Amino acid sequence: MCGIVAYIGHKEAYPILIKGLQRLEYRGYDSAGVALLNEKINLFKTKGKVSELVSHTAHKDTQGTIGIAHTRWATHGEPNSTNAHPHFSESENIAIIHNGIIENYESIREFLLQKGYKFRSETDTEVLVQLIEDVKKEGNYSLFESVRIALNQVVGAYAIAVISTDEPDKVVVARKGSPLVVGIGSEGDFYVASDAAPIVEYTKSVYYLDDEDIACLKANEKLHLKTIKNEVKDPLTEELDLNIDALEKGGFEHFMLKEIHEQPDSILDSMRGRISAKDNTVKLGGVEDYEKHILDAHRIIMVACGTSWHAGLVGEYLFEELARIPVEVEYGSEFRYRNPIITNDDVVIAISQSGETADTLAAIDLAKRKGALLLGICNVVGSSIARATHAGVYTHAGPEIGVASTKAFTAQVTVLTLIALRLGFLKKTIEEPVYHSLIKELEDIPNKVEEVLKTEKLIKEIAAKFKDARNFLYLGRGINFPVALEGALKLKEISYIHAEGYPAAEMKHGPIALIDENMPIVVIATKEGNYEKIVSNIQEIKARKGAVIAVVSKGDTTVAAMADYVIEIPKTEELLVPLLATIPLQLLSYHIAVMRGCNVDMPRNLAKSVTVE
Ligand code: GLU
Repeated sequence: MCGIVAYIGHKEAYPILIKGLQRLEYRGYDSAGVALLNEKINLFKTKGKVSELVSHTAHKDTQGTIGIAHTRWATHGEPNSTNAHPHFSESENIAIIHNGIIENYESIREFLLQKGYKFRSETDTEVLVQLIEDVKKEGNYSLFESVRIALNQVVGAYAIAVISTDEPDKVVVARKGSPLVVGIGSEGDFYVASDAAPIVEYTKSVYYLDDEDIACLKANEKLHLKTIKNEVKDPLTEELDLNIDALEKGGFEHFMLKEIHEQPDSILDSMRGRISAKDNTVKLGGVEDYEKHILDAHRIIMVACGTSWHAGLVGEYLFEELARIPVEVEYGSEFRYRNPIITNDDVVIAISQSGETADTLAAIDLAKRKGALLLGICNVVGSSIARATHAGVYTHAGPEIGVASTKAFTAQVTVLTLIALRLGFLKKTIEEPVYHSLIKELEDIPNKVEEVLKTEKLIKEIAAKFKDARNFLYLGRGINFPVALEGALKLKEISYIHAEGYPAAEMKHGPIALIDENMPIVVIATKEGNYEKIVSNIQEIKARKGAVIAVVSKGDTTVAAMADYVIEIPKTEELLVPLLATIPLQLLSYHIAVMRGCNVDMPRNLAKSVTVE
């Protein structure tokens, strides 16, 4: 998410910072800002593009050889100029830029409010800069020490850069969970950024901060490095061997591939701050006030389009299984044009990555008029759906640029899992040990996704084998049926191969007629769920000479003996299998599309955010 740039040296900082922000634009953002330290701190920020920031700062005093700049991708508080970074402390002596989420910002905010601090923005970031100021005042510490001590009180993820008028020759930087790299310039200067893209044209000598590293940068001095626990460290610098093009996609050939590989992080970010490490429970601040209302609902209706609709279908299994609340999943476009029966006993959950999907938006408008409680699951903070709903839970997947949705889907499923767990717990429809063990397992999913991503080489070989197929069939049962639908959709979207997703048992009622030696069939055949049934389905396919690509649980030998190709995924709880089983299907579509020469990030006829009906 978002981008950080900082500079300290002898050159004018402003042009370096702006160019740096432009190099980070590929990461996606909603607002931008810059602060220059020149006796006092001059701070400028705007909603929208870096080009708008440039227009905004024209004719303003942007002089200074020390500065910090930021492109924000909102997680806490709407994308507007007030919430944009940098953020000042109350005295305006300290300014900060931050990438990440301060999970315990509410309690820190409360503590600071009681001490009389006032807040200008809705962000978690402003809480951190105020805390730094408070620590500094209370202990009369240096800026470096104040940041270090403050960070010890913070739970969450951060990459930060901090400047202060009290020490106008320093930039303090730190990271945990969000990336940060320091470029060591040849003229005693330092370039800081979220990745090497803004740095590479100035220097190839870089230091990648480790988690909990904190560094003080002063022109003409060695980088001063510690851990936030106060251990002194030696900065081991590396030589960059990268070209700018590769950097802008984080070294990946396409945004889609980058986003597929980001899933361990995006799933983790979607859980961040929502699972209490103390008592292993789920807490969802965004819907807390409406929990009773949701528990009393006669039914839940999920409205969505495309991939989000598939996430809704996974949600249906989760909610019904864990919370025993009846769920219906509707296409936004269908729902809005019939005369649906909705009352104020219904809860409508709108799912949309962009939060701007026109049909979903229209559907919730209708539901609102009929008195339903509206919840949103969106990735973009402050988006239309987020604003139109009564409450909601953001997915925090970070900006998704590839048109075919990947990490947003798994983030939506993660959030739906959290909501279902919370409701099941409150309603006592899941036993406590089951609840806790599901949470534990959910926390382990990012590691398991990491493991699934290691199957990419094998998937590439499978892709090479089937890239010229004219049709594909995807089969799954139970909670893996929506995974089959999603796999088929991914393939259609980016490779233009016709594909259908089906519940495996339904195959006999039609699609079986299509099966011959030219038909590749992807089957999600994990041990969890109706394993024996799906094994029979695979036998039926093999009897008709179809080519089976099976996604199986690690160590499976039964399906391995029957299928033409098997992709192993780690074992997990049945309800969590979609979070793993989806990944190989994304990779398969991606590699087939690349081999067919398709424009993966911008498939023909498709738009990222469908803002027309
Ligand atoms: N959580 C911070 C905010 O919402 C930082 C977001 C970011 O990483 O851009 O302002």
